Amino acid sequence: MNYDFLTKLALDGAQQGASHGQWLETTHGETVRVHTPIDGTEIGAVHLASRADYEQVVSAAQAAFTKWRMVPAPQRGELIRRLGEEFRANKKELGALISLEMGKIRAEGEGEVQECIDIFDFAVGLSRQLYGLTMHSERPDHRMYEQWHPMGVIGIITAFNFPMAVWAWNAAIAAVCGDTMIWKPSLKTPLCAIAIQKIVDRVFGPEGHDGVMCTIVGTDSEVGETMIHDKRLPLISATGSCRMGRHVGTAVAGRLGRCLLELGGNNAIVVDDTADEEIAVRGILFGAVGTAGQRCTSTRRVLASRPLARRLADRLAAAYQSVAIGDPLEDGTLMGPLIDQLAVDGYLAAVQQARDQGGEVLCGGKALTDRAGFYVEPTIVWSETRLPISREETFAPILYITPWDTLEQAIADQNDADQGLSSAIFTRDLLSAEQFLGHAGSDCGIANVNIGTSGAEIGGAFGGEKDTGGGREAGSDSWKAYMRRQTCTINHGQDLPLAQGIQFG
Ligand code: NAD
Repeated sequence: MNYDFLTKLALDGAQQGASHGQWLETTHGETVRVHTPIDGTEIGAVHLASRADYEQVVSAAQAAFTKWRMVPAPQRGELIRRLGEEFRANKKELGALISLEMGKIRAEGEGEVQECIDIFDFAVGLSRQLYGLTMHSERPDHRMYEQWHPMGVIGIITAFNFPMAVWAWNAAIAAVCGDTMIWKPSLKTPLCAIAIQKIVDRVFGPEGHDGVMCTIVGTDSEVGETMIHDKRLPLISATGSCRMGRHVGTAVAGRLGRCLLELGGNNAIVVDDTADEEIAVRGILFGAVGTAGQRCTSTRRVLASRPLARRLADRLAAAYQSVAIGDPLEDGTLMGPLIDQLAVDGYLAAVQQARDQGGEVLCGGKALTDRAGFYVEPTIVWSETRLPISREETFAPILYITPWDTLEQAIADQNDADQGLSSAIFTRDLLSAEQFLGHAGSDCGIANVNIGTSGAEIGGAFGGEKDTGGGREAGSDSWKAYMRRQTCTINHGQDLPLAQGIQFG
């Protein structure tokens, strides 16, 4: 199918893969060809950036930083407000581009653009609230306080599954904090990045702030590796798999840089027998099937109290039958394709392992081979005890359901995963809810009651523990990751008293 009408936000002739406000004539020599997962059609090609192009972009971002950091934060916020206006005006088109390139359904694509708008709004307010504390000095006539300064050029590495929102979480906050930035998007979704950069250029260029937000489309070996080893980038914010995070985290730590890691999840929902089953089914369905199971917060495991476990599993299996799978751009579709054939192969291999390990496939389990594109059936696997495969994050709609006898056992099971991103309990028992949220409860960065594991709001700090990487982005005080803290002590007396009462000479 011809999707040119949807790619026009990104493509304009021979599309270059690097911009610092101006698109460079990239010198890598090769292109990345972009295919839509909807039917495998090629929808565009982007000229890859080389290491030399990267050098140009870093220099521009460094030069922009010396200017941008001196702009008062509320004025920086004003440009983010205008960026938000542009996103509002282009919400439908940007949402459709996400659906086309990544495969999530229209409602979720537009929801992702709304998430960008929400974080822009948040950042505008934040631009007047970058507060520091004041402390009481132990010395007479001394004042002590802390203040926050911009850090420099931030490196942003993003995953394919949120091709706009994750950039926005980082970019909006980093920009009001006074940083400039270089974004390396996933090579699976470069068009979303290019469309965004074109909007950024329209907002920042006329104000003389080219180079505040830059984009570079390049390979991991050439551009990615150069970025993470580059001492000129004091912070690398990287979103993606645990495998990638382990490598990036080690490389950045090796040069004593700062890392903000947002990595994989293996998220579980605990359901007890007081739960409202109707809303539990809806929460699990959205969490497990939404975005075809390709969210970091997707529900991968359900741990249900034994008296209701099998009934719940059967209700879910029935609900799964009504999930309309197909073109994510069409009305009525609830689940689009996986990103590519590799993802389909991973799904099929996981289902096979689940069967080999004794799991009972209650529904799904197959790839849809009657059409082009990368479609699979949402799948539920029942087992009395935990299957080894359920320890892995398969980025596909596979849900493992197991029963439990005590809430302590359920919480221990929920925590028994390498990752610690999102978790939830469905219950109407106050004590169970509090137990789940208590110190001995969920060990995840996100813990919900009567809400599924996915669909976080931007106002809270987003991120997780253990192999999820420990980073926090978006709301609350996540902005502190993008600034450097400075403690200042001012002596306004006539003497020089030393701390701890030390007498010297
Ligand atoms: P991925 O790890 O394959 O790639 C993520 C990004 O890392 C891409 O831009 C990739 O090019 C880059 N990268 C890979 N190797 C690199 C290197 N050596 N140097 C620099 N950059 C490198 O992940 P993916 O398949 O795109 O996304 C899916 C994964 O992302 C899942 O595990 C999912 O849970 C996770 N994710 C986490 C969050 C979160 O906020 N916690 C959000 C979205 C996705």
